[in-house]
Amino acid sequence: MNYALVTGGSRGIGRAICLELASMGYHIIINYASNRQAAQEAKALVEAKGVRADLLPFDVSSPTDIEKALEGWKEAHPDDFIAVLVNNAGIRRDNMLVLMQDDEWNEVMGTTLNGFFHITRRVLKDMVRRRAGRIVNIASVSGLTGLPGQANYSASRAALIGATKALAKEVAARKITVNAVAPGYVDTDMTHDLDQDKLKGQIPVGRFGTPEEVAYAVGFLVSERASYITGDVISVNGGLYT
Ligand code: NAP
Repeated sequence: MNYALVTGGSRGIGRAICLELASMGYHIIINYASNRQAAQEAKALVEAKGVRADLLPFDVSSPTDIEKALEGWKEAHPDDFIAVLVNNAGIRRDNMLVLMQDDEWNEVMGTTLNGFFHITRRVLKDMVRRRAGRIVNIASVSGLTGLPGQANYSASRAALIGATKALAKEVAARKITVNAVAPGYVDTDMTHDLDQDKLKGQIPVGRFGTPEEVAYAVGFLVSERASYITGDVISVNGGLYT
């Protein structure tokens, strides 16, 4: 059976991606860090689409946790294939660079960039063997334009976009596509501390996006219709950066 692994799939954008891919017929592996209740809710919503949902908690910034979790899943599913990987888990630790602490820099890099590296390297082995696969990395407008207070976050997302482009070239001949989706401001727990009324004036469409609007772009990149798109970045940002 074909599975899609969505990191940070329990809440926000990741949950919407799980539901979109479930409606395309994929069984879903929902990764999360610690909020079990949110993960259980996501699992029930995915199962209501008529597919299987496996909860797989691990910290994407921990190479040993990743290896242990994915090895365990593979042992339990010897004939199943992770055909889609969405690297979505992410955190913000905003601060002006002059005040930024080592852990604020390292935690953001560890989650976004090291997480991408360790998970993708592991999952890619089977994709290469099977000569099939779709990888979608959730970047951000912050990685394209840079945002003040987010040198760590912008750097991690810009690096993720660079890695997306390089990897796309490495695996294109194996019929694996690698793309990024760069959301602008999306209404989730991550942005609840932001002043929407103030910020929406900067957004040409005049509002924050919804998690589903990001998930539709991911669904398209995963579909057969996107088989000639690789190494690219789709912005979903209401015109904030065009
Ligand atoms: P969110 O609502 O805060 O949800 C974050 C998800 O990531 C949760 O499922 C969380 O699990 C998981 N997670 C966090 N750290 C993790 C770790 N170390 N290991 C495993 N899972 C971890 O975030 P969101 O707004 O949906 O954002 C999703 C992605 O889009 C992030 O990469 C974010 O940076 C990016 N993005 C968001 C926006 C926006 O405006 N919201 C804009 C551009 C890009 P728990 O529930 O267990 O904590």
